[in-house]
Amino acid sequence: MLKRLTPSEIESVRKELDLWTYVERVMPIVKDVKDRGLEALKEYVKKFDNYEGCLELSQEDLGHKSDPLLVKKFEKVLDHLEEFNKTFLPKGSYVRKNGVEGWEVWEPIELLGAYVPGGLYPYPSTVLMTAGLAKRLGVKEVVVATPPRALENEAVVAALYASGVDKVIAAGGAHGIAALAFLAKVHKIVGPGGPYVQAAKVLVSAYVPIDMIAGPTELAVIADGNADPEEIAYDMLAQAEHGPMSFAILFTDSEDLATQVDAIVSDKENNIQGDLYYVVVDDLKEAVNLVSKLAPEHVSVYAETFDIPIAGALSLWSPSPFIDYGAGPNHVLPTGGWAKARGPLSPIDFYRWSTSAKAYEESKELLRIAIEIAKMEGMRYHLKALELLAKKWGI
Ligand code: NAD
Repeated sequence: MLKRLTPSEIESVRKELDLWTYVERVMPIVKDVKDRGLEALKEYVKKFDNYEGCLELSQEDLGHKSDPLLVKKFEKVLDHLEEFNKTFLPKGSYVRKNGVEGWEVWEPIELLGAYVPGGLYPYPSTVLMTAGLAKRLGVKEVVVATPPRALENEAVVAALYASGVDKVIAAGGAHGIAALAFLAKVHKIVGPGGPYVQAAKVLVSAYVPIDMIAGPTELAVIADGNADPEEIAYDMLAQAEHGPMSFAILFTDSEDLATQVDAIVSDKENNIQGDLYYVVVDDLKEAVNLVSKLAPEHVSVYAETFDIPIAGALSLWSPSPFIDYGAGPNHVLPTGGWAKARGPLSPIDFYRWSTSAKAYEESKELLRIAIEIAKMEGMRYHLKALELLAKKWGI
């Protein structure tokens, strides 16, 4: 059943997911793997996933186990994702202003860690969106961590091989993230997952950069009275089936549409663990404002006219799972309101950048002010270094 919410109740849909609680819970695990390494990792894999087999797979191992037909299919998806996403790659830039020349240079990260979830469902699609795309966009080496159970799935194995993953660590959850950070010593960690995974990412970010909080799935649907209730119902059920902390909310100006969607989801909801809600608004402008306040991971729009709300990714007149499975935008998306400041995993996440400056004499006015600032801050050697340049320029 769709549960009716008033606008003031909307924020409560995230109430179960207090990430700080999970940070406290996973802190001992992450610290232990940092301190005791592989021995600790083995113990947690046994404890949480009841697995005692090999913890590491090479590209060669993946090749032996992969179904070539599946690999071909995944390569096709990767071809499209590469073409679509490389248009967003930063090109680098050059500037000369007030006597200072500058360059911004972008280079792929050399060693990337990707987490691929695998508690409730296997996620071959996430392998493609993280490791696969990163490799296609120039990242030299990619290590994937995923629960051992996921590696029993032939689609996951084929996706890892099609993606050219260099090494797989058979460890999920908080310890999988700790293994990427402290055993594989990757230069950045990307990827979605449940609350234990996201909490561990927050913790290791004291040592290794991370992409974002990409936790339990969220969907808002904005629809007017002309929308097809069946399309909306399945779009909502699709995102709510990810797991118990996921939610989907319909925002509509048509009470009638909400009733029809409710009738369709009501006999399907036994199969899903996430929550389903609806909010009736006066007009779609109000819907867009309310959705923007929530800034959910996914927004699907089934309406003739609308403003663009704040969201991780928007699907217009098409179901959000098409984005999940390769329409183009990345399906690793910000949750918990992070969409207010960032979008999907992007080629930028696979790159690092630096900005350089070369100063010429025409910048002497700026140099004079810099000398004054050094005096204001009382930094003696900053001042001395600048005065040497001023002397060279005859100031
Ligand atoms: P998961 O891999 O995130 O978590 C499962 C693992 O957690 C298990 O293998 C286990 O090792 C570990 N674990 C269990 N209890 C633990 C504990 N107490 N401490 C430490 N680790 C523990 O897989 P999942 O649970 O299926 O969750 C996947 C999530 O990813 C879903 O919520 C889904 O909505 C989300 N998701 C988000 C995005 C996004 O971009 N935001 C994309 C895809 C999926």
